[in-house]
Amino acid sequence: MIVDNLRNVEKLIAETCGEIGRDPSGVCLLAVSKTHPSSMIRELYEAGQRDFGENYVQELTAKAAELPKDIRWHMIGHLQRNKVKYIAPFVQMIHSVDSLPLAQTINKEAEKNGRTISVLIEVNIAGEESKFGVKPEETASLVREIAALKHVKVRGLMTSAPIVADGEENRVYFRKLRQLLVDIDRERIDNVSMDVLSMGMSGDYLAAVKEGASVVRVGTGIFGARDYGQRP
Ligand SMILES: *Cc1c(COP(=O)(O)O)cnc(C)c1O
Repeated sequence: MIVDNLRNVEKLIAETCGEIGRDPSGVCLLAVSKTHPSSMIRELYEAGQRDFGENYVQELTAKAAELPKDIRWHMIGHLQRNKVKYIAPFVQMIHSVDSLPLAQTINKEAEKNGRTISVLIEVNIAGEESKFGVKPEETASLVREIAALKHVKVRGLMTSAPIVADGEENRVYFRKLRQLLVDIDRERIDNVSMDVLSMGMSGDYLAAVKEGASVVRVGTGIFGARDYGQRP
């Protein structure tokens, strides 16, 4: 059943790309598996899915330990500095960098592991009080500061748009984030490549694809509703 959901989401992304003349290979579907058991992740893995997103470090490391090593794990939730060390050895990308101290810790732990970690800057694009992320007008200066860290590479921007009944309503925010990416890209900052735009969740990922998302993060639309009481 969840494989059918996956195929359906892939099909809708491909159709939307067709409508607007985008190459669907430019959209990475991240399956957001938080709260769901490793058995479900394995089912999707066996159907070919490789990119998974998790929000909690402990859950992420526990799943990574028991699942195939070629899974690409994306950290998409708010990250505490003292937990970076647990994911630094293997994480594919950290989508939720919103401060220089956090980036400095990632840099230190990446160096210890002999790697460079790709990160996205999380932007609070709609200025919501309840959301993590930097203000749009503070994003470029944070990117410039992080660019000086040798073991961190800024690859782009991430946002979680407001919860809305119709995902189309969020296009204005997705467009704003894309414009911010383009503006920062124009600065041609050393050690920065602004090529990843992580935006769109179950309620609005097709709207995000229309506005240029290169990564969409879909949980409920693939796995069904979450039960936080069952978090492994
Ligand atoms: C949980 C989560 C998602 C997936 O949300 P759904 O609405 O279930 O698709 C995407 N991004 C982030 C940052 C999340 O925390």
